[in-house]
Amino acid sequence: MIGRHHHSRGLGVTSDNARQRLVRELQQQGVTDPAVLEVIARVPRHEFVEEALRYRAYINTALPIGQAQTISQPYVVALMTQLLMAPGKIRKVLEIGTGSGYQTAVLAELVSTVFSVERLRELSRVARERLERLGYHNVLFNYGDGMKGWASQAPYDGILVTAGAAEVPPALPEQLGPGGRLVMPVGPSGAQVLLCIDRTLDGRLIRSQTANVSFVPLLAGRA
Ligand code: SAH
Repeated sequence: MIGRHHHSRGLGVTSDNARQRLVRELQQQGVTDPAVLEVIARVPRHEFVEEALRYRAYINTALPIGQAQTISQPYVVALMTQLLMAPGKIRKVLEIGTGSGYQTAVLAELVSTVFSVERLRELSRVARERLERLGYHNVLFNYGDGMKGWASQAPYDGILVTAGAAEVPPALPEQLGPGGRLVMPVGPSGAQVLLCIDRTLDGRLIRSQTANVSFVPLLAGRA
């Protein structure tokens, strides 16, 4: 997004240099989409963790965000975003698992509108305030159970789930429009793979899988 101003030119661990180093590391790990790398270089990840953890914000690792949840590892955010955007023309995205809002911000930089669902009230509230403060105006938040998706706003060009489950909740692919793609960690806890589901222009669903990942669980209901 042009004209958005981030207060991200600090010294040391929160500096542009630290983000540039992270970007080079992601490139070495195989992230190739220039638009994704450019966004990782820009979004101030240190704003998405508590102050005591900021010195670790540009290390390529997941970090705790409270309530037994984590902000995903930058590599995983970059990889999932690259996978989601790969079909092209991804404009309207549903994200399940707002968490810190970091992945939400990365998506908001790349698409027209992000619809983000979180089942923990406090995390949803904090992420909403944070993204407003950082100047993201193309995100809609929903405190609710993302296993049901967000049907009233469907269909979506992209659906990104940032919590893992044994299988894809059936409501999610139903909300995927033609030419759209869903990306989600699927498999037993701690040993998931990234699953892609593509909806073809004639409405069929095609599944493929890529990297091994480890995510916190997708849980039913809200709290
Ligand atoms: N993308 C986030 C990841 C947060 S961890 C980030 O980088 O910060 C996964 C998040 O998914 C947690 O906040 C968890 O509460 C949420 N979650 C788990 N099950 C959910 C569900 N059924 N609906 C919505 N959110 C869910």
